[in-house]
Amino acid sequence: MSYPGGDLRDQLAHVGAEAVRTGLAIGSGGNLSARAAGSGQCWITAAGSWLDRLEPTEFSLINILEGGLRGGHPQPSSEWRLHTETYARRPDVNAIIHLHPQTSVLLTALGYDIALITSDHACYLREIAIVPFERPGSVKLAVAAAEAVAGGINVLVLDHHGCSVLADSVELAHKRAVNLEEAARSSYAALLLTAGQSHRVPQVPARFLEAVGRGEAKV
Ligand SMILES: [Zn+2]
Repeated sequence: MSYPGGDLRDQLAHVGAEAVRTGLAIGSGGNLSARAAGSGQCWITAAGSWLDRLEPTEFSLINILEGGLRGGHPQPSSEWRLHTETYARRPDVNAIIHLHPQTSVLLTALGYDIALITSDHACYLREIAIVPFERPGSVKLAVAAAEAVAGGINVLVLDHHGCSVLADSVELAHKRAVNLEEAARSSYAALLLTAGQSHRVPQVPARFLEAVGRGEAKV
């Protein structure tokens, strides 16, 4: 089946359902947003919505620069600033997936790197940045996350909290989120196999990572 097209809310509902089905998120643990390219407004999941049961009425429309809620929609997720601050800094970004993926958060909290073990990890993630803990929903966290991605990084782990994954489309952001948790699960398995002896799980060869950085390697 090809990826759902059409309404951005339908695409985000697909992400939510798949994220819960595949164990990337539990119930309402996260929030999702998307905008039409260049738009000053974005759709974001409403406060308290269950990610695996998203209906078009469970999205809020908010103004990115002023943060104001567009009338006629439910209250947005309490973490809406995490989305609007990033959109404001990254005009190339049209979708943001914020989830609470358990293995990515666990490894980061323990001080282990999430290794880019496969060529898929390298191509989709390229680089993972860590944002130190700030209270979820706070302006401080939203600004810290936006500053972390200002230079072009698309994948963040928010320490003791979750991830924030960006792309120019919902589909690519979804693939990045899947690959982030898959890389974390593989890193976790590698640490178990080496009895935690090594904090550095072997990554793809450096020359491949350099080619990805130059845009020469694609999956
Ligand atoms: Zn969160």
